Amino acid sequence: MNVVLMGPPGVGKGTQAAALKAFLGVPHVSTGDILRASMNEGSPLGKKVKEYVESGRLVPDELMGDLIAERLARHDAARGFVLDGFPRTLEQVAILDGVLERLGRSLDRVLILTAPEAEIVHRLSGRRSCPKCGSVFHLESRPPKAAGICDNCGSALVQRKDDTEEVIRERLRVYASQTVPVAGAYRTKGLLAEVDGLGEVAEIGARLKAGLGRTQPA
Ligand code: AMP
Repeated sequence: MNVVLMGPPGVGKGTQAAALKAFLGVPHVSTGDILRASMNEGSPLGKKVKEYVESGRLVPDELMGDLIAERLARHDAARGFVLDGFPRTLEQVAILDGVLERLGRSLDRVLILTAPEAEIVHRLSGRRSCPKCGSVFHLESRPPKAAGICDNCGSALVQRKDDTEEVIRERLRVYASQTVPVAGAYRTKGLLAEVDGLGEVAEIGARLKAGLGRTQPA
């Protein structure tokens, strides 16, 4: 299945995409994770995108188009993907259509997770993540066993530079102006399923599977 998982920053896309990946047996492709990894490596792409990512602005569509074309053409995505964080603009919707058409494929479903803004700001400002293995914690709702240490690999947890209040506001503003129209476009195409992002992780996961029209693993 070729699936897009949308929603505002901090709504829980990363957590849910990891579960959907296991359920569908396809890779989780997070453009944010790819950009952060290239920034950590200090690669040419990482150097180009650093300022955008750290200030909460969108990386130019042209760069994102090249990145997504290369990633979706890889062997592991041949049976499908859960795309998280792309497309974020109407231009990226057209780019994705073009990439999939060239691969002889099309989208099966677009899921959008929703949550009130106050909840999102709360989640993002308490979020701490592991720079090594990508595990995500929350100071209140999912604290690590030892303060500041990743349960999974023992590395020191960090707060993403774009999870500070000022940048969170900018990311939400960008989401409202640039990405909400993307959901509208997919609604018009009959691909969109809206899913309430409030509640227990497993409960939200079950709603997403229902939104896919599947309750059995691949
Ligand atoms: P995320 O982890 O999905 O919240 O993405 C973190 C940051 O990466 C965003 O605030 C953008 O600066 C950048 N980014 C990720 N995906 C995209 C995209 N599809 N288009 C433009 N910028 C992106």
